[in-house]
Formats: sequence, C-alpha cells, structure tokens
Amino acid sequence: MHKNNTYPTTLIDSFGRKVDYIRLSITDRCDFRCVYCMSEDMTFLPRDEVLSLEECARLVKVFVSLGVSKVRITGGEPLVRKNALQLFEEIGQLQGLRELVLTTNGSQLAHQAFALKQAGVRRINISLDSLDATLFRKITRVGELDKVLCGIAAAKQAGFENIKLNALLMRGINDDEALPLTAFAVEQGLDISFIEEMPLGEVQHSRSESYVSNEDTLKLLRARYDLVSSAETTGGPARYWRIPNSSTKIGFISPHSHNFCESCNRVRITCKGELYLCLGQENKVDLRPLLREFPHDDKPLIQAIVDSMQAKPKGHDFNVKRAAPAVIRFMSHTGG
Ligand code: SAM
Ligand code: SF4
Repeated sequence: MHKNNTYPTTLIDSFGRKVDYIRLSITDRCDFRCVYCMSEDMTFLPRDEVLSLEECARLVKVFVSLGVSKVRITGGEPLVRKNALQLFEEIGQLQGLRELVLTTNGSQLAHQAFALKQAGVRRINISLDSLDATLFRKITRVGELDKVLCGIAAAKQAGFENIKLNALLMRGINDDEALPLTAFAVEQGLDISFIEEMPLGEVQHSRSESYVSNEDTLKLLRARYDLVSSAETTGGPARYWRIPNSSTKIGFISPHSHNFCESCNRVRITCKGELYLCLGQENKVDLRPLLREFPHDDKPLIQAIVDSMQAKPKGHDFNVKRAAPAVIRFMSHTGG
C-alpha cells in the first residue's frame, strides 16, 4: 500500500511512460470469424469466466481514478454483448474521462450507432477488409458486407467526431483491396488505417506467406495519391499521411516495421479481467479474483494496478516470419 493510504492519480511505469489509455475487451464472442483473427472452430469462454458488465464498469472507474483519460471498448465484437449499451452509458458519464471510443466490425451499428453516440462514444473504428461481398464473406467466413455498409452509413448519420476504417491486408487474398478501400474512405469522408497482420493465436493460413508490409501498401497508394506525411501521433504504432483536397487521413499501423514502444501509453484488459501490459508480451496481472473477492473494496484492485506498472515491458517481440505464433492468445481475447 502507498504511504498514508493514498494512491497516485497517474500511472507511470518503470521506464517513465505515462499510461493513460486502456483498451477493454468486453467479450471474446463475435458474429464474424475473420481468418486472421479466429480459428474456424473457435471455442469461446464459459460465461462465468468473462467479466460481468458491472465488473467492467467498476474496472474502468478505478482506472479513470488513476488518471486514465481514454478508454477503448473492443472485443471480440463488443456490440454483440447483451446490454453493452448500458456499459457505454455508465462509462460515458465518468468525470475525468476525456475520450470513450469503440472498435467494432460494424455489423450491429445500423441499429446501435445513434444510441452509442448519445451514450458519449466520440470516435469509432470500423474494421473493413474488402468492398467485394464475396471476398468479404471469405475473409469473415460468415459476415455480410451490406450490413457493415449500412452500419457505416448509420455511424455517419449519428455524427461521431471521427470514423476510421481499419483494414488488414493479406497477400493473395485482399491485398488488391487497398486502393478501392482508400477510394471509398475518401468518397465517404472517413479516415482509414492499414494494420499489419500480427502473429496472435494459431490460425489456418501461414501468416508469413499472407503478411503484407505497410511499406508495400504505402508504395501502392503513393502511385495513386500525392500523400503528404503528417506528424500526428496517438502514442501508438501508427504513422499518418494526408490526401490533399480530402479530409481523409491514412494511417499505417506497423508493429513490425517501426519501433513505437518507447511512447507506449496503453495497457489492455481481456474479457476475463487479465491486465496485459503489452500486446506482444505475456506480462499480465489477473484482476478478476480481486474484483470478485473484494466486491465492495477497491483498494486491493487499485494496489494491483499501481504495482503492475513495474511489470510493463520495455517493448514487444513480434516476428511474423517465425513459424509459431509469438503470442498464443487470440486478438479477440486481448482486444484489438
Ligand atoms: N470485432 C471488432 C473488429 O473487428 O473491429 C473488434 C475486435 S478486433 C480483434 C479489433 C481489430 O483487431 C480489428 O481491426 C482486426 O482487424 C484486428 N486484428 C484481429 N486479429 C489480428 C491480427 N492477428 N493481427 C492484426 N490485427 C488483428
Ligand atoms: Fe470478430 Fe473482429 Fe476478430 Fe473479425 S477481427 S473475428 S470481427 S473480433
């Protein structure tokens, strides 16, 4: 316990980095089965292993009291979780929270976008890897492109501050979607980020063969657009470019190609309540037992979070060329 029973109002790790951003996965379930994210016969967690929405809200409240000002809700597909909206409403009202944001596959947005905006969600990232319905189905295994396009339209209408498309390209599968997806983003007035595939979890294809570097994607886009480099940063692994005469910002999320770890400001919490201090390392603290053993006392939870900062690693260790996944857990558990 800290001296005088008081706790810090800022989380600082042992490398002096301020952690003020959490990503919380509220479910491991999803209505899609994207080939790079899940195996075809994915087994989901028993319900009692997943944090209740009350536990999720309590965790976020504690983190905000420790200086966290940005919260991203993710999954799995966060919007398939029953009553997820109540959680957004509760978090949206927290004093001290500057930004509540969401990552979604867009399938539920057609009917939820407006309520999410009302609840206080400021920005949305929507994953979209192809504009071809057949290819979209092949990548998501079960998803319907039309539903996602309707979701994007609803999000635009709801008036979020920013909507960004997230696209993951795989060689020989959808790498030629980079241009149509960018053209769509420009036409719709949306931002777009390209994410390099990360070796998280065992999947059916060879990640080293499907891997498309952002350098290649950038080269392709520069042949078509006069991209202007932008100094904008979120403290994460993204580098940004602007397209002149358009509002579109293009991001390249490159955990492999760039070392972004020195400015890392974030930690992730899985739907089981595990606090992962780095996406690419196994250092974690299990918060669920503390939530459940001390339902009315936040002190043990706070102490564990404060102490965990000493275990945040300096950086990740991804190498897509390795045969085995660098990290056994799936992105849908940890939250993207
Ligand atoms: N279901 C939501 C969605 O798809 O946006 C939220 C969760 S999903 C795990 C978040 C992001 O992680 C998506 O943009 C997805 O493309 C990305 N993702 C999943 N598996 C990945 C992997 N192996 N490497 C890189 N990104 C991955
Ligand atoms: Fe579901 Fe998102 Fe993973 Fe696709 S990337 S399977 S939509 S969690």
